[in-house]
Order: sequence, then C-alpha cells, then structure tokens
Amino acid sequence: MNTEKIPAKKSLGQHFLKNESVINKIIELGDFSAADQILEIGPGPGALTSILRALDCQKLWLLEKDDVFARNHAQYAEENKLGHMRVFHTDALTFPWRDLRGNWKIIGNLPYNVASPLMWDIVSQVPKLSKAVFMIQKEVAERIRAKEGNKTYGALSAWIQSFCKVEKGFVIRPSAFTPPPKVDSEIIIFKPLPEEELPKHPEYLATLIKTAFQQRRKQLHGIFQKAFPSQYAETIWQQMEIPKESRAETLSPKQFQKLADLLFPIK
Ligand code: SAM
Repeated sequence: MNTEKIPAKKSLGQHFLKNESVINKIIELGDFSAADQILEIGPGPGALTSILRALDCQKLWLLEKDDVFARNHAQYAEENKLGHMRVFHTDALTFPWRDLRGNWKIIGNLPYNVASPLMWDIVSQVPKLSKAVFMIQKEVAERIRAKEGNKTYGALSAWIQSFCKVEKGFVIRPSAFTPPPKVDSEIIIFKPLPEEELPKHPEYLATLIKTAFQQRRKQLHGIFQKAFPSQYAETIWQQMEIPKESRAETLSPKQFQKLADLLFPIK
C-alpha cells in the first residue's frame, strides 16, 4: 500500500511504516506460528496486518480507533471470509484485557500518546500473555529497560519489570515512516516472568510504586512513614533490610514486590 497518499491524523499518533525490511524484522521478533492467537493494536493501513493475516493463525484480533481503518479491515475480513479475524473499532485504552482467554501474543506500533498507560495495563491485566512486541518512542523504551539506580529508572520500569523480562529489539529512524515522527522509535519485547515470580498483590504494588515515584528525590522511609500507619511502618521497614536513606529509584522491582507483600496484610 502506498502510505504516502493516506492522510495521517496527528491526534491518533498516526505514523505509517513504509520500510519493508523494518516491517519484516518486527514480524520476525513476534516468532509467530499457526497455533498463535494474535492481537494487534493500531493496525492503521495494515503494514503489519497484511503479513499477520497471511500467517493463518488461530485468531487475529485488531483494535483500531480510527473509523476508516477499522471499517476497511472489517470489510476485508468479511469479503475474504476470514473467520479467525475480528476487528474492534475501539480505543485500546478501554479494552477489557482481563477477559482475553488463552495465550495471546500482542503486537503494535503504538500511538505515542497512549503507549505508556496501555503497556501498564497489558502487562498486569492480560491473564496469559505469551509475548508482546511494541514499537514505542526510543526514550520511553530506554526508561522501561532501565535498572534501579539509573536516573531514567521510574514507575513504568519498576512496574513492567515486575511482570516481564524486557528486551531491546532495535531502533527505527524517523525515515522509516510517513509522515516521519520527530523522534527515534524502538522495538521493545516483553516476555512474561514465570507465574511464581509475578506480583501477588498487584493493586498494592501499583499504589506503592506510584506513591514512591511521585517524590522520587525524597527518602523512601519518610514517604513510607506518611503513607502507612506508623506502628507498622517501622517494623515493615526493618524487614526490608534497606538503608533509611534509600530513594524510590534505588529499589529493584523485586524489593517493591516484597514491600507490597509485607504491606498487604495491614491495609
Ligand atoms: N500499524 C500501523 C503502521 O505500523 O503503519 C499504524 C501505526 S500508527 C503509529 C498508530 C495506529 O494506532 C493508528 O492506526 C491509529 O489510528 C491507532 N490508534 C491511535 N490511538 C488509538 C487507540 N487509543 N486505540 C486503538 N488504536 C489507536
């Protein structure tokens, strides 16, 4: 498809991939097979979708907010009698991720303005995620991959790494798209951690991580004393065996998880 001729909507973060070798490299990272259930976010004119359709997988679900693209994909599925393909004309931010049944691979060149909250929800809500391959802003990908102690380590890094192993795919320059975005993009890959390593109390973990990083320069001990009842706070802090001067950015995802687990019985 000649993407140069398709008018792009800025409000929907539309930048269409036109470089075939980049498109093929993204698909390769999905490691797709006929047994897969695949969900694509933001198919747009279909750079990735046209390859995914040809895979003949178990299910191919598309989530697209743009009326025209959603209609075109639905029409294509109907005309070609692709029973395994389903198009949701919807905002991916409102999709009921928890209801997905069975193993799913999720792929998408994500619109930059919704990428972070979308990834936050997907890693924690999809019951059986086998793998996710996302294209996002390079700077956001670097933040997600950052380890504790690094100045770019933040709430999104601690949260996503609590659920997934995060790997760098490759960097994509603006010239691979039409219209070209202002920044570099990166492919990031999420591979879920084994069941026994997943957070037991994700809702507490989320509150904890958000509270801690809202004041990332402050000592965690002080934030903690204010946020949680003092008679328990000190005991829990001692069990954590971390220095009083620790800040949010020095705590690993595992340490955040331990703190959430210790807090759970008292809230
Ligand atoms: N996949 C295409 C490609 O690689 O060329 C298009 C990628 S473009 C960066 C992002 C796509 O996401 C657009 O098709 C846009 O309409 C769609 N989109 C934007 N916001 C969305 C949302 N909240 N939910 C679902 N789709 C969205």
